Amino acid sequence: MIFNIQRFSTHDGEGIRTIVFFKGCPLRCSWCSNPESQSFAPSLMYDSRLCRNFLECIATGSEAVKRGVNGIEIKETSDSEIIKLKDICPSRALVVSGEEKSFSDILSEIGKDIPFYRASGGGVTLSGGEPLSQGPALTDLLTELKHRNVNVAIETSLHVPWENIERCINLTGTFLADLKHTELSKFSRFTGGDASLVMRNLKRLSELHDDIIIRIPVIPGFNHTKNEIEEIINFVLSLKTIREIHFLPYHNLGMGKYRMLGIENSFESVKKVETEEVAGYINYAESKGLIAKSGG
Ligand code: SF4
Repeated sequence: MIFNIQRFSTHDGEGIRTIVFFKGCPLRCSWCSNPESQSFAPSLMYDSRLCRNFLECIATGSEAVKRGVNGIEIKETSDSEIIKLKDICPSRALVVSGEEKSFSDILSEIGKDIPFYRASGGGVTLSGGEPLSQGPALTDLLTELKHRNVNVAIETSLHVPWENIERCINLTGTFLADLKHTELSKFSRFTGGDASLVMRNLKRLSELHDDIIIRIPVIPGFNHTKNEIEEIINFVLSLKTIREIHFLPYHNLGMGKYRMLGIENSFESVKKVETEEVAGYINYAESKGLIAKSGG
């Protein structure tokens, strides 16, 4: 299941790229800027400020919505009831995030931009959610892209079984791998996951693949201290092959999406991290011989 295909992106990898956002993630990072990507099922997002009350949604008969005092109310229901609401709201107050697309549909979307990839040194970036949670069929897509000589980067938390990574190794140009924390209890508290799985996978991957960019989100209250970031960098130094290390300063651009999903978020009032605040981390990484930068 995917929730977006973004063409002509110049972020998330080199050159002009198409970003395919897969839906579903094994983690629940407290600061996640794409909360609609976390569930493997379609999600309903509603912004009452945009609702013009023409009630096209109610007219579908979907059990996912009911008339409320201020606009509509969202009800827990099945995927099929949610899908009935796809693209019916003219003011985009009600949006269904997520749709099943076959890999051949995705390929035909990607195929439109192959000439731009060639001219710019770009390609395709698989993002999410967690693309490596998509199951064995993902390798069909990767195999076809390799066959068409399209460069592929995968953005991943590496919080997946090793087999999911292993089957993609020879089909992937660049791994953009998150390393959020090395302390197990903190990682677990803020993401619901297991840092030892990520570190184990990263170690194995660095022995088998020579183009890995490590991405460290810099998150207030989670890892934004000198000691914690230096611990993370020290772990990176123990890896076999790393091309670069990128620091991603926290931003709060995704907070409106939590409101649309009806989810409370503990990061609602946390201020974004300025680029200058990660300069010391970059200096430390560079002093250890790593190539480091902010963003990307
Ligand atoms: S790994 Fe990424 S997509 Fe998944 S919850 Fe964390 S920030 Fe969100």
